[in-house]
Amino acid sequence: MRCTQAIIYSDNLRNNINEIKKNLKKGVKLCCAVKADGYGNDAVNSAKISEEMGASYLAIATVDEGVELRNAGIKTDLLLLSPCCPSEFSTLIENNITPLVFDEEIISELNKIVSDLKHSKHPVFLAVDTGMGRIGCLPDQAAPLAKVINNSSNLILKGMITHFAVSDSITPENKEYTKEQFTQFKKACDSVKKAGIDPGIRTCAASAAAIAMPEYQLDMVRPGIILYGYYADEVTKDYLEKQNISLNLKPVMQFQTQVAAIRPFNKGKSVSYGRTWISTKPTLVAVLPVGYADGLLRRNSPGLKVTINGKAYPVVGRICMDQCMVDIGENNTDVKRWDKAIIFGPKDPKDKESSLFDADDIAKMTNTISYEVMTCVSKRVKRIIQ
Ligand SMILES: *Cc1c(COP(=O)(O)O)cnc(C)c1O
Repeated sequence: MRCTQAIIYSDNLRNNINEIKKNLKKGVKLCCAVKADGYGNDAVNSAKISEEMGASYLAIATVDEGVELRNAGIKTDLLLLSPCCPSEFSTLIENNITPLVFDEEIISELNKIVSDLKHSKHPVFLAVDTGMGRIGCLPDQAAPLAKVINNSSNLILKGMITHFAVSDSITPENKEYTKEQFTQFKKACDSVKKAGIDPGIRTCAASAAAIAMPEYQLDMVRPGIILYGYYADEVTKDYLEKQNISLNLKPVMQFQTQVAAIRPFNKGKSVSYGRTWISTKPTLVAVLPVGYADGLLRRNSPGLKVTINGKAYPVVGRICMDQCMVDIGENNTDVKRWDKAIIFGPKDPKDKESSLFDADDIAKMTNTISYEVMTCVSKRVKRIIQ
């Protein structure tokens, strides 16, 4: 078994789902986002745990992701958040995946393919673009499109969905923008109701809004990043702490490897491609068998630090496709060959062996967000489910 692995702490996922549930108003359904292989945290395991813990829906981004879950025995309703192409419609229907629709062309094409394949009605959610500028119909198109769905003999409107653009921000103008999006969405849902059609499950809040703005929970929330142990944004975290809503989130993934070699270098020896780092004094360099093909992005050096036996060491020189090097200092007696090196994982001040950095810390070091840090951990890295 390769030593470069991602440990998946299932108990931490269970803990995070419970933390979310504690903050849901009565009757609010839970749709757990397991898209992109559960944000890198293993979609099947995340889906199974979400299912066990009462999720009403699981959110995916591609039809193939849905097929993977169905093949693993997942029975929960699947909500496809991203658009797919007509060539995937039959697979979507056969696997009972609920797509988002937002114009007449998609509705009629889907309706036609359903009628070729099955006799019962296929569920759809109507997506409304209230200000994200991604998919969705404009709010005043919601009622006319709901009618088109209603008149399609093989489709049934199961819900309505919109997505916020700045709900992870608490600046007054952004809060105002989110509020306006919410108002537009409510109006669109009400217009459907007025047209005599049941809008079904109304959902607008992802992680940030679901917890920080409980008034936006409506019928269902769609958390993703908080399932995996991170707030959508540092600002949300501070805001929640000030409001005394503290979620005890625990990172689910630990990305780790082992020291494969320790090499003494004299002053003036360069490390890796491009010779971007040259030792200024004698030192020891540890070689780690993890590189950008594993998701340790090349742009992360310089800047990235890893944890070995509770101490932080800098990655030096360019990160290669399959290896990288760490300066551990000349007289290091703490680090031995085959010791565990943690890229990121849960931080536990009580555990001297634990990582000093979580995915948020890595994101800060490398100017991105925890979402990207986790989803970048590539397929080559085995997920070890615990
Ligand atoms: C990804 C996604 C979510 C989950 O977002 P988080 O910020 O991870 O909670 C919810 N809804 C839609 C439409 C999404 O694309």
